[in-house]
Amino acid sequence: MRVGIGYDIHRLEKGRALILGGVHIPFEKGLLGHSDGDVLCHAVMDSLLGAAGLPDIGFWFPPGDPQFKDVYSLRLLYEVGRKIQNAGWHIVNVDTVLIAEKPRLQRFIPSIREKVAEMLSLDASRFNVKATTNEGIGELGKGEAISCYAVSLLVSED
Ligand SMILES: [Zn+2]
Repeated sequence: MRVGIGYDIHRLEKGRALILGGVHIPFEKGLLGHSDGDVLCHAVMDSLLGAAGLPDIGFWFPPGDPQFKDVYSLRLLYEVGRKIQNAGWHIVNVDTVLIAEKPRLQRFIPSIREKVAEMLSLDASRFNVKATTNEGIGELGKGEAISCYAVSLLVSED
């Protein structure tokens, strides 16, 4: 068995759509990035790649590459899931923590779990999402950004 950790943070800006775990969340701001800025997908991908001993997402999907401009990160997550499988790994479970002062994410968690789990061919019980605030502290607490931590556990096929 192998464990991997992933972390990501993106700045919130007006005029961008807010996408977390591939789910569109109605809000006045969205995450800035070369891609759609989906911090949850990015953190999950790095945790999976980390556990498999593979290079991080910047290696597979370089941020300067025009083909990844505004890309739907859930699609990249699907590709990472395939890479992990092809390398002989099964996903045991993935756990995540989203840190967002606003908006409140609680009611979107079931759809995020379902959507991401489906992309990774997992039962939703194996893909967990928790949401918390930063208690008003620092940039995250001022609502200037959203961040996400992810931990993945893989088991080898042989
Ligand atoms: Zn990112």
